[in-house]
Amino acid sequence: MVSRVIPVDPFDLVIFGGTGDLAQRKILPALFRRYCAGQWPADVQIIGAARGNHSPDKFREIVARSLHEHVPNRSKDTETLSGFLQRINYVPLDAMSENGWANLAGRLKDDRIRAFYFSVGPSLFGPLAERIRAHDMVTKHTRIVVEKPFGHDLDSARTLNATLAAHFDEGQIYRIDHYLGKETVQNLMVVRFGNMLFEPLWNSQYVDHIQITVAETVGIDGREEYYERSGAMRDMVQNHLMQLLCLIAMEPPAKFDPDAVRDEKLKVIRALDPVEPHHIVRGQFAPGPDGLGYREVVGNPRSTTESYVALKAHISNWRWAGTPFYLRTGKRLVARSSVINVMFKDAPHSIFGEEAGRHANALSIRLQPNEGITLKVTIKEPGPGGMRLIDVPLDMSFAEALGPENQDPPDAYERLVMDVIRGNQTLFMRGDEVEAAWAWTDPVIAGWQARGDVPKPYESGSTGPGDAELLMKRDGRLWQGIKP
Ligand code: NAD
Repeated sequence: MVSRVIPVDPFDLVIFGGTGDLAQRKILPALFRRYCAGQWPADVQIIGAARGNHSPDKFREIVARSLHEHVPNRSKDTETLSGFLQRINYVPLDAMSENGWANLAGRLKDDRIRAFYFSVGPSLFGPLAERIRAHDMVTKHTRIVVEKPFGHDLDSARTLNATLAAHFDEGQIYRIDHYLGKETVQNLMVVRFGNMLFEPLWNSQYVDHIQITVAETVGIDGREEYYERSGAMRDMVQNHLMQLLCLIAMEPPAKFDPDAVRDEKLKVIRALDPVEPHHIVRGQFAPGPDGLGYREVVGNPRSTTESYVALKAHISNWRWAGTPFYLRTGKRLVARSSVINVMFKDAPHSIFGEEAGRHANALSIRLQPNEGITLKVTIKEPGPGGMRLIDVPLDMSFAEALGPENQDPPDAYERLVMDVIRGNQTLFMRGDEVEAAWAWTDPVIAGWQARGDVPKPYESGSTGPGDAELLMKRDGRLWQGIKP
């Protein structure tokens, strides 16, 4: 099965922070892959804009090096690579002064889609927005893209929203949460709303509980200063895990359109109960055989920032009353694994007798690695000697099901950057969603601060602090294994 490529209209894309890590590692490789897929018309222009005083050729060299590293197969085709690089330009520019702005403004064409990607720290969002407006660069086809972190708490998120709203309409602001660009996350919506099979069971009558795990093996190297001020609750739960929870829990939108989907997600966040202090576990990785502990990494022996969070959330609405959502995420864990497990209830009565064991269905939605969906069903163990029941997976690994051309699903940024160009905001967070998520997160963090809470140490390479297991065991449940 060959995936269909829908061409986009001509566009100018300015990447503020074009020399930075995110631009070089994610955005430009994603653009290159879309270029290789033949999705662009001939006269696309991509302009890196950053503080470094590089010539356009020097910038192209930097980009070529990044593509060699991050898209090794395609970038060896010199003709394709040079075709892509011809579309790349560079403007030295300072967000905080007038340097470079007239040069940038002079390069943009009026009659086409114009996107500004803010791949810089959030303190520059306001100055960039002001200068784009002041230099008369906003047309009716203009969009801006902003990266996380979108605020540090509710107040700062409101201020940021107000700053952007002073220069752009909400319909022009694309707040990226790259989890929403993952193929499986979009598939989650199709599985739920494109099949008759699941939706009738998708409620507290049939679902015992839901687990959302985002486990990482990496630590925080290179992001120490940011992470020490942030922690896992702000860095992961407020945005990525919250977005996944919304897609799992939301009511069917009337149509797959940006506001219909985002209205339903917002209702979920607003229906979340405040988290009880005893329903949340914080952890911090300790020194271990494979490296330094969190406190040594950040150089703060008294740091109380969490690198791990597990919590139990409740959604107070008709669909989910009584079905808990368990969320966990952490750094330096045993495996890299992002997975949502929808754990169904036991059958109400076993006609096979208690000795056959109690079995329940589970739907696992794997975001990474090995994107796919598995449904655990109960069958008879083969062979004579009575009825013994076992669980087997009905497995849909996308790479296998969709054939060799789809072995390598598109990176989330490919989808999202092209959605910006197409003007489709469905997979981007709206300002009110972000604020509602902070309104739920802030009291949790304020509670820790008020109580002087210290995170529990956990061993690097483990599944996290033991208390997170207890959070489940107290409810007679178990986390599904992190290891894929
Ligand atoms: P970085 O430090 O590697 O790059 C910053 C870029 O901003 C550089 O190109 C620099 O020249 C430019 N810059 C700095 N000050 C400037 C100024 N005054 N005027 C013009 N340009 C200026 O940062 P990064 O890791 O690429 O992150 C960029 C943003 O994306 C941050 O907000 C970060 O939190 C967010 N983000 C990064 C990642 C990632 O994987 N790197 C992931 C998610 C979100």
